[in-house]
Amino acid sequence: MMSRCPIRRIVKWGGAAISALLLAVWLWSAWWCTGVELHRVGEAGVISGRVYIQWFDPRSDTWSKPEWWGTARHSAPFRWWYEGRCINFGSVGSAIWLTRVDIPIWSLAVLTGVPTVWMFWRDRRNRHRAGMCIKCGYNLMGLRTDRACPECGWNRNTD
Ligand SMILES: [Zn+2]
Repeated sequence: MMSRCPIRRIVKWGGAAISALLLAVWLWSAWWCTGVELHRVGEAGVISGRVYIQWFDPRSDTWSKPEWWGTARHSAPFRWWYEGRCINFGSVGSAIWLTRVDIPIWSLAVLTGVPTVWMFWRDRRNRHRAGMCIKCGYNLMGLRTDRACPECGWNRNTD
């Protein structure tokens, strides 16, 4: 039997998928990086366990770096925490300012993972209380407690 609220199911499983994806990207970024660069606008990407965004101050002189999108190996040290800073790397006669914000990806996974785990836990508890199968939601009211769920085969007593 399907859950009564399909949107709830989608949010729940979507949250699980996004959390898993974030954790995978987090690990991947220890060795690999990816990013997008927009001419005179800024750059965004993933490296060393973090997502970063950096944008140029409009007062900056012409920024000559070409537009780029790609994936590459890197050897930068892994970073665990948030960071926000202003960088000025102009040479003589020019000035380039940019603001950069780094967000650790594990913190994003926590942000999506905690409500996801909570939703799974709550559904399980509600089913248990309502006398429903915690695996598939089938109504087990009136059935003998030593019998497995007729819908999916889950046994109340082994859990
Ligand atoms: Zn069941």
